Amino acid sequence: MNSVILDELYKNIGKYITSDTICKKLNISRIAVWNRIKGLEKLGYKIEAKRSVGYKLVEEGIDIIIPYEIKRRLNTKVFGSNIEYFRLTSSTMDEAQYMIEKGCSNGLLVVSEEQTDGRGRQKRKWLSPKGVNIYASLVYKPHNMSSVKSIALMFATSIAIVEALSDFGIDNAKIKWPNDVIVNSKKIAGVLIETKSESGIIKSVVIGFGVNANLESVPDEIKDTATSIYLELGKKIDRAQLLVNILYYLENLVKLIESDGESKVIEMWENYDTTIGKKVLVISANEKVEGVAEGIDKNGFLLVRTAGDDLKRVVTADSVRFLDEKQ
Ligand code: ATP
Repeated sequence: MNSVILDELYKNIGKYITSDTICKKLNISRIAVWNRIKGLEKLGYKIEAKRSVGYKLVEEGIDIIIPYEIKRRLNTKVFGSNIEYFRLTSSTMDEAQYMIEKGCSNGLLVVSEEQTDGRGRQKRKWLSPKGVNIYASLVYKPHNMSSVKSIALMFATSIAIVEALSDFGIDNAKIKWPNDVIVNSKKIAGVLIETKSESGIIKSVVIGFGVNANLESVPDEIKDTATSIYLELGKKIDRAQLLVNILYYLENLVKLIESDGESKVIEMWENYDTTIGKKVLVISANEKVEGVAEGIDKNGFLLVRTAGDDLKRVVTADSVRFLDEKQ
């Protein structure tokens, strides 16, 4: 019902539409229309109401991430073709895993305005304040894809975010191996990939990402290490458009991986990388290793040259800190 009203408002953008037009379309009373309009305002729409004239949608500054807004911008074939939207959830990753168990289709997008238990790698917390950022998880069910391609999928997601940020005017975003998107040495987005494989073949993947978009003040816990698009640009952006742009780039990069072009994805990743050549501290479950990030191998694992001249292969569960910077 909301989508019918929104269709009418968008069709007549900048103009008033009469309450009667909507009454007739939906076969509901004027008071019911008024209630619907109030509901849309609660979602964040700015609608001007004029007595005995009608309603007018103010398009400027719209930042609403409900499925209607995502769908009207969507230019992908598969990614985002179904959307599950939450105002609040524990974690979009958990929701997506649950939907996989229920047999959801490839390309399902789970998006939430807020998460109580958003997570990064190794169950590290992803802080997810309400209504300002993107918290999304995409279900991807590849056809006969080897599980060694998981890192390429992680790289593809970070690259897609960097490219989408550039569409919005942030053109200095970099990627810290393997999954963090960094702007001016601070984290603006994180990526989390959860893969289920059988006999070395990926059965399903949940591609999760969180992007700090219109966040005005960074929570204390990450005050020195995180930033947002708003803090970098000094203006708010349209989150639905950002999300759609990420999905667009991601779908294309995933197609490349499907056709065995992951070396191209790795090359692109290297162009945006800010890790190689830096002094790093690698923290894993049972050791800490210092060294210089020398490069990545053909599967995307990080190679670190230690002071003792050993070459250590770092797995994605490990945490990598830059020794000469805040990150
Ligand atoms: P770390 O940053 O702790 O080295 P990491 O780079 O592997 O870990 P992830 O596991 O991907 O990062 O993400 C979790 C970490 O990101 C948290 O430990 C916290 O430091 C940071 N973080 C949490 N929420 C946010 C957020 N909204 N924006 C930026 N950084 C965040």
